[in-house]
Formats: sequence, C-alpha cells, structure tokens
Amino acid sequence: MAVVLLMIADAVTRDLLERGLQGGSFEALLPDDTVWSGSRGNLLPAGAHADIALVDEAALPLDVLKDFVNVNPHVPLVLFTAEISKTVLLQAMRLGVVGVITAPVRYEALVSALRAAVERQDAIRKWALEESQRKTRTLRTQIDELKTLLTVGRALTSELNLEEVLTAVASAAVEFTGAEESTLFLLDEKTGELYLRASHDFSGATNALRLRVDDTLAGQVLRTGKPLVLDSDTLEKIKTSYLVHALIYVPLVIHGRVIGVLGVDNRTRRGNFTPRHVEQLTALAEYAAVALENAQLFTEVQTERKKLTSVMRNIKEGIVIVDMMGEIMLINHVAQMVLDVSESVAGETYRNCCSSLDLREGIRQGLEGHEYHTEISAADGRVFSVRVTPVPGVGAAVTMHDVTHFKELDRLKSEFVSTVSHDLRSPLTAILGYVELLERAGPLTPMQKRFVDRVRASVENITALINDLLDLGRIEAGLDTEKEVVSIAEIVRYAVEGMKSQAEERHQELVLHMGENIPMVMGNIVRLRQMLDNIIGNATKYTGEGGRVEVTVESRNNQVVIRVSDNGPGIPTSEQPYIFNKFFRASNVASEKPGTGLGLAIVKSIVDAHHGRVWVESEVGKGTTFTVVLPGLEGSAPPEA
Ligand code: ADP
Repeated sequence: MAVVLLMIADAVTRDLLERGLQGGSFEALLPDDTVWSGSRGNLLPAGAHADIALVDEAALPLDVLKDFVNVNPHVPLVLFTAEISKTVLLQAMRLGVVGVITAPVRYEALVSALRAAVERQDAIRKWALEESQRKTRTLRTQIDELKTLLTVGRALTSELNLEEVLTAVASAAVEFTGAEESTLFLLDEKTGELYLRASHDFSGATNALRLRVDDTLAGQVLRTGKPLVLDSDTLEKIKTSYLVHALIYVPLVIHGRVIGVLGVDNRTRRGNFTPRHVEQLTALAEYAAVALENAQLFTEVQTERKKLTSVMRNIKEGIVIVDMMGEIMLINHVAQMVLDVSESVAGETYRNCCSSLDLREGIRQGLEGHEYHTEISAADGRVFSVRVTPVPGVGAAVTMHDVTHFKELDRLKSEFVSTVSHDLRSPLTAILGYVELLERAGPLTPMQKRFVDRVRASVENITALINDLLDLGRIEAGLDTEKEVVSIAEIVRYAVEGMKSQAEERHQELVLHMGENIPMVMGNIVRLRQMLDNIIGNATKYTGEGGRVEVTVESRNNQVVIRVSDNGPGIPTSEQPYIFNKFFRASNVASEKPGTGLGLAIVKSIVDAHHGRVWVESEVGKGTTFTVVLPGLEGSAPPEA
C-alpha cells in the first residue's frame, strides 16, 4: 500500500483528503507537529517512509519545500492548489512536481494522479537500480583487473631472474588483453635496432627478428614514446615479416627513456582491442620496465661478481679482503692454502682464522689505515711476502706473493759469498803480514811509508767487510744456535760503556736509561752484543760533533724494548724500507764515512734469530730512533727491589 505524506495547511481539507485516501489503496501520513513547524526539509516523521507527498501551496514556504525535495529526491511531489495560475505552475515546475491537483478534489482524479506519480516513481527507481547494478558490475571488473595487475606487478618487480621476468611479462600481456600473441622488443643500443627478446604464443620466426627503428610501427613507438593501436580494418604488414588484424604497441620506459616496446596482436582472429586494453598494457609495461631494469642490473652485478671471483680464484697471488668490522669478505684458494683454512672462513673474523700473530697485527694495522709488510711460511715450506693495504670504505686487502724462489736465490748467494769470503781471508792475512814485514825489512822513504799505510788501511777495510759477510752468512745459516739465559740489561750496559770512548772523541753525550725489572732473554751473548754495537755505533758514527745519543731499556708485557735515539741527520722516509738490506747505504750520509752497508743487515738477522722485531723511525734533520723488541723469558724478571 502506497504511503502518502499529506502536507496540507487547511485542517478541513486535510481531514477530507485523509479519509478519502484511506478509503482507497493509500495510507495517509501526517508530518509531526514539531517537524511541521520547525525543521527545514526533513518533514518526514522519524523512521517513517513515504512513497509520495501531497503538498498544499499554502502549507509551506517555498524554500522549505525546496529543501524537502533535496533531502527526499526519491519522494515525488504532487501539488494541491485551489486555483491553477501561471505563477503556481512555474513554481511547481521549478520544484519538479510530478502532478498538480486543483480544488474541488474529485476522488478519482486524486487517486489516478497519485497512482500515476507512484508508477512513474517506481519506473525511475527500477531504472536507477539497474543502472547502478550495471555500473557496479563494471567497477567490480575494473577492480578485479587492477588487483590482478597489482599482483602481476608485484610478482614481476620482485623477480630478479631476467629470463623469468621476460617470459612473465609476455604471457601477462596475452592474459590481460586476450590477444593471440605478444611480443617484447628491446632496443639494441649498439645497432639502434629493436630485437625480439621475448614472446608468448608468437607464431612468427622468433630467432633473429630484428626491426629497424626508423620505418616500423614498433620503431615509431620507440621514437615517440606513445602507444599505438591498429584495428581489424587495416591489415598491416609489420616490418618486415608478418600481417596482423589488430595490434597494440606500448613503450617500455625507464627514467624517461624508452628501452623497448611491448606488443600484443591478433593475427588470424578478427577482434579489435579497446582503450581499456591499451590502458592495461601500458600499466603492465610500467611494471615490466622496472622489473627489467632490476633484473638487468642484478644480472650485471652477478656477472661482474662471477668474473671477479674467477679472477681471484685463478690468480697466483694469495688475496684476502677484510671488511671494516674485521670479517673476511673474500679469500682465494692460494690464501686459504697459506693460512691453512677452508673457504668457509669467509664471514668469520680474521682473528679466528689467522694463526700467524704477525699477520693478525698486520691486518689490525691495515684496518687502522697503515700499510704493513711481513713474511710468512706456508705449511708446504713456501715463503710468502705479505702486504696489508688499507682500502678506504672497505677495510683492508692482504696480498701474498710467493718469494720462495727469491729466498732460495738469496740463500745461494749468501752461501757463495761466504765461500768466497772465506777463501779470501787467507790471502788477505798474507798481504797484511807482508805489509808488516816490509817495514821491518829495511828503511822506507816517507812516500813509501805513506803508500804502505794506505795498503794496510785498505786491506783492513776489506778484512772488516769479509768478517761482516762471514758473520752474516753464519747467522743466516743458523750456525749460531747456541743460546743461553742472558741478562740483556747487562749486555746493553757493557755495549754503552764500550762505546763511551768513541762518543767522547766526537764530544757526544751518550746516556743510558735503564728501566726496572728487565726480564732475561734466551740468546747468544756475542751476537746480541754485536747487534747493539752496530746500532749504537751507527748512532755515534752518523751523529755529528757534540750530538746526543740516548739508549733506553724498558720491560713491557714481558718483552724487552731497547731504543737507541740520536739527534743526527735522519734517514729519508723513501729509503727507510731498504735500510736493513745488505750493502744499502742511505743518501743522507757522506760516502766517505767508513762502512760496508752490512751492519743493519747483521742487526736484522740477529734480531730475527732471537724471534724479535726491529724497526726504524726517523726524520731528516731531526734524528733517528732504532727500536729492538726481544721476547723476555717468562717469569725471568728479577724480583722488584
Ligand atoms: P754502514 O756500514 O753504512 O753503517 P749499516 O747497515 O749499518 O751500514 O747502515 C746502513 C745505512 O743506514 C747507513 O749507510 C746510513 O746511511 C744509515 N744509517 C744507519 N744508522 C743511522 C743513524 N743512526 N743515523 C742516520 N743514518 C743511519
């Protein structure tokens, strides 16, 4: 039963109408009193529903009626007027009333007007419902499509395998558009051509299909960056090989640059593509371009990584890369062999994998930004020269170079020099003997005496050189193996004493600072003394008149640290690495200073034979400090006073 809202001002007419309607197939509804007088527009009692409203022009002001229409657009309005005038009609039209009833009211006319209005409203409602259902259906399809696109997009952009990405894009293109086949062309930067990189259900010759950019449709898309659509009516020949009925090409764009073209087409079937298909394909192309770039970059990185790993693997040098946290990033098989570890140490801290204390110290220094050089022996007896280089932003790189061959050569050379020196000693002794005899054999003229003195000095020089060489040979060959517990503090004291006269001759100050609790060392007294004589002797020899030489002995972590400092000429930084080499004499000292260049080589050999370390710190014009560190005997420090 249709409900009629009666908005009639005159009570008599309202009653009349109410009763009249109730007799028919209508139900009359009256607005609340409160609502009637107060609210604007919302004239329906709360919760009530009306199918139609009958309104008296006198009942409400026009603007309230207007509001009512706005709030209840679904309730048709029928105007009840005493007299139809032009003004009333105009107003009624403006309000969109669907019928006008004039007094006196005839019951049939009223019912048929109301019925017509209700029917019309029903028809409109039905149409609106159908229309909204239709729209909802389209919207739902679009939402579904978007969801699928999003899922495909997500899957694509998370895929890093290039081939998988290409195949997925080509098949998704067919799926979205319902096309017969799809093609994906990429731009070959070198030739400027488009080449077929992937396809789905493609019936053309896939291998070596290349399209020119200047006069093909795909080329046009590449050049313009705009999608292109062909329909069934124009059977186009796609350069240079196949005919299609309908086709879409969309560009693949990365950072504003077109890198390829994605296409779908119908070759046998007649069926056009819609703008919706173009939109879908364009959206897919956007995902595809990102996925392609990701996958391409990933593939490049992988290839580079493989190349690097292969270079590292095949290189004859040992290589270890340590990151800033001290973890091993990379270790090649030579380095694994040298350090006697497996590949699985990658990722572990270097402290756990390097048994060599020296190398551990080297890497620590490398990570602090200092270069370090040392030698280590592999389990198979080979000797490696190891260099630690700081790598800013990465950590440190350790390179290991096999120097076994050079070591062997060095050994042979030393052996040879030793033999020759030994054999030279006897004739030299004979020369010296006869030179001595010459003076006794008869008087010499002053000139002859001068010459004989020179011969003697030269022979003495050669003898000193030969003695040095023989010493070096013996130490390097490990012939001086006899060691005993010795007080290094005492040896230093004697060495300094012994050097006093030489220092005094040059008016130099020679001071000794002896620390406390200096541990004993396991060593060879003669060699340790020789080592100290060489270092302290050099300090006084090279420091000029009136200079100062300081010798300090300290105990640190059960090691003996001996420092010899002078304020002499200093050694240029570039020459410091060679200072312990045999026969090396630095450019800082005048060549007429006597010396063989073997003193520091002997020092190094002696320190090595005692498992110690020696190094130099020096600045030209300021002075030089030699430091020797020798391992002390555990618990051998004399008790504290
Ligand atoms: P040399 O017989 O020449 O002294 P060494 O092996 O003892 O040979 O020393 C090598 C070189 O190192 C010397 O020639 C000298 O140039 C440099 N040198 C060594 N000690 C010092 C020092 N205390 N001050 C300056 N230069 C030094």
